[in-house]
Amino acid sequence: PVKKRASKDSKNATVGGIALSHPDRVYWEDAGVTKRDLAEYYKDVWTWMAPHVAGRPISLLRCPEGASGQCFFQKHAAAGIATEHLHLVPEKGDKIISVDNLGGLLSLVQAGVLEVHTRGTTVDDRENADRLVFDLDPGPGTTWKDVVAAARDVHERLDALKLKNFLKTSGGKGLHIVLPVAPTPWNKAKEFAQALAQAMAADDPDLYVATATKSKRKNRIFIDYLRNSREATAVAPYSTRARPGAAVSTPITWSELGSLKGADQYTLLNIRARLARLRQDPWAGIGRIRQKLPNA
Ligand code: ATP
Ligand code: MN
Ligand code: MN
Repeated sequence: PVKKRASKDSKNATVGGIALSHPDRVYWEDAGVTKRDLAEYYKDVWTWMAPHVAGRPISLLRCPEGASGQCFFQKHAAAGIATEHLHLVPEKGDKIISVDNLGGLLSLVQAGVLEVHTRGTTVDDRENADRLVFDLDPGPGTTWKDVVAAARDVHERLDALKLKNFLKTSGGKGLHIVLPVAPTPWNKAKEFAQALAQAMAADDPDLYVATATKSKRKNRIFIDYLRNSREATAVAPYSTRARPGAAVSTPITWSELGSLKGADQYTLLNIRARLARLRQDPWAGIGRIRQKLPNA
């Protein structure tokens, strides 16, 4: 059942100082979420999201017709995106984007952006990684329990190396483990991520696979370490997904993992209630960690 909201019946709306065209356009039909709802959501969560997004190159998934229409993945400033509130930086003949304030994020909503993805690096220091991501991708034939066990495995391996690590739902099917590091050259960061994924696959070849080969992913969790390169991205914490139910990629604590029902448990509709209940940021302190990777 889709909850009806009071329609303001206007051609335009302004949220956070940004004008929205077609504010009542439905972006997620199954959840009854409109473009205006999306803008209001980001206005409410920006203070949670900003530390993980501001100052980083982003990619955008634009879906002008909403989540069930055709979407376009864009890595650069492009037609239809107002850039007044965005930070643009030239790179290889294009302009990469970073969003450093709420106005910037809302101007992305105006441009039909349903997902924001970030690189594991800052705009100012792009040759170095400062966040690694282990993206756990469940193959066909696996269960949610398998995904949870895989996340715990990554967690324990990183803990054993005395590396603090953080967990979020993808808003899709899997989980992401985020490892903040002191600025580390990309070749070294990539090597470390690959070595960890390969060690898991070597120790439990029936459970894990560390190569992207589709046929090998049946009944296994793919430890996708390929997010860890200079230009690769992963969905940003608190970004919505252009997937059923307006799911949101949601930071959680490791102690919440056991009761998590799935990677799409938190959505634009229920995450604000979660945030209001929280006594502490699940990712508290992540921005201050400057840990050094051991040699692969
Ligand atoms: P799930 O949990 O369902 O796997 P996910 O966000 O981890 O969700 P993946 O398919 O594992 O999805 O990851 C895809 C990643 O690849 C995205 O995080 C995105 O940053 C990046 N990417 C690169 N090119 C594209 C593209 N054309 N469309 C979507 N994502 C892309
Ligand atoms: Mn994934
Ligand atoms: Mn993946």
